[in-house]
Amino acid sequence: MSMKCALVTGGSRGIGRAVCQKMSAMGYYVLINYKGNETEANKTLSLIKEVGGNGELLRFDVSNKEEIKSVLGNWIEKNPDNYIEVLVNNAGIKDDGLMIFMKDEQWDNVIATNLDGFFYTTRMVLQGMLMKKYGRIINVVSLSGLKGLPGQTNYSAAKAGIIGATKALAQEVGRKGVTVNAVAPGFIKTDMTEGLDEKELQSIIPVKRFGTAEEVAHAVGFLASSEAGYVTGHVLSINGGLYS
Ligand code: NAP
Repeated sequence: MSMKCALVTGGSRGIGRAVCQKMSAMGYYVLINYKGNETEANKTLSLIKEVGGNGELLRFDVSNKEEIKSVLGNWIEKNPDNYIEVLVNNAGIKDDGLMIFMKDEQWDNVIATNLDGFFYTTRMVLQGMLMKKYGRIINVVSLSGLKGLPGQTNYSAAKAGIIGATKALAQEVGRKGVTVNAVAPGFIKTDMTEGLDEKELQSIIPVKRFGTAEEVAHAVGFLASSEAGYVTGHVLSINGGLYS
């Protein structure tokens, strides 16, 4: 019997973990991708199993196209009856610095993980969706990719790149029953925002607090639902009113 599968990149922690839990609650067998933190990835899987869901870990570095090809490609080959119906491109990193001081590696790594990771992962999963004439692709971008933030030329460029690709791909695959959307979080409480001063920043956020990973996952769940079939090429901000 075939299973409904959802792949979440960067599912070991933060927003990705909450998205994995949401996908599981929606009845998906969850492929939990991560880069290196196996303990946390296993914790995500345990949380899913505790409430009656199921899934497996799929370790690959989204910035490495050869790894994507071998690990994800291998999974797809070995599971001909189970196609990935939902893909959430969530894995991401930031490495901030003013552009004048930014090192080559800071630019390269941030672009490779966020933007190249989106391209190579999505291209691999797309074929199954097109053949089955159904799919949901949700890209986790950022306020930084919409507005641009100082100190984040690399990250803003990568996220803005994904936003452009979201809109372009949505037009390529709409007639095949595949939707492509993005969610753009503002400040969300995860490891990524750990060093930030919430007390100071909340004064500029209309709802006066950081968001939670679960609030982002809820929006991803909507875009991943079959009922959202007429929403595509859209970027949904989840930022407490900070920017629109
Ligand atoms: P996080 O807590 O730092 O978690 C990052 C996740 O991405 C981890 O699961 C990590 O895996 C994975 N990852 C990192 N590099 C990877 C790679 N090369 N290959 C595979 N997996 C990789 O981050 P988060 O705050 O949840 O952010 C998730 C997404 O939301 C990112 O795309 C981020 O840019 C975006 N976002 C976050 C915020 C925010 O305020 N938190 C705001 C806007 C956008 P390991 O555990 O194995 O390291």
